Amino acid sequence: MRKTVIFVTGSDTGVGKTVISGLLTRFLKERGVDVGVCKPICSGGREDAEHLLRAAANKQTLDEVNPWHFAQPLSPLVAARLERKHVKPAAVLKHIEKVRARYALLVLEGAGGLLSPIGEGFDSRTLLTGLKAKPLIVVADRLGAVNQALLVLEALPKRYQAGAQFILSAVAKPDASTQTNARLLMELRPENPVHCLPRVSAKETPLLADKRAPVYRVFHRLLEKWNLA
Ligand SMILES: [Mg+2]
Repeated sequence: MRKTVIFVTGSDTGVGKTVISGLLTRFLKERGVDVGVCKPICSGGREDAEHLLRAAANKQTLDEVNPWHFAQPLSPLVAARLERKHVKPAAVLKHIEKVRARYALLVLEGAGGLLSPIGEGFDSRTLLTGLKAKPLIVVADRLGAVNQALLVLEALPKRYQAGAQFILSAVAKPDASTQTNARLLMELRPENPVHCLPRVSAKETPLLADKRAPVYRVFHRLLEKWNLA
């Protein structure tokens, strides 16, 4: 039986994947789960991987959390080509499987959105399905969120759609839709849980142990839905 991988993907880059992956990792740790992290491919800096590593505070090294990194802030495929490097999906999957084997649960952050080209002939969907991971879809909670959420969900193979969950991440400037996005998405896709995450900066330490805190409730419900609570 392969161990669980939670694959944090999203509708776009910059929607909150890293903050959410870090919070989820810390939440799991506080509950005593032996959790590993992975951000296999970075471009334009390794801050995401460093953030995840800090959250996990385990024995992993940065190179293990993030073995492939490229200088230019472009899609990883293009950034790698500029350095005349070629990342193959089999190598990435092999690395992730090695990390997965050592932890009870692995939190993995994709690069960009679900279909962003991250290497030669593959994207996050390739990895997600190769790992049989649980899809956590992050979407910024602003006008357009419902369409973006549905596009990502539809892009998943049918058997992964059923288990997918959404997090609508709060934006700096909410608009009128922020009040209705979650409800509308739940109405359209009642089988997929929708969680609203309040705005949390990467540096802030939210009250993950406080059962009344909104962040606590979001992650508790999320894990419950996947029978991981
Ligand atoms: Mg990120």
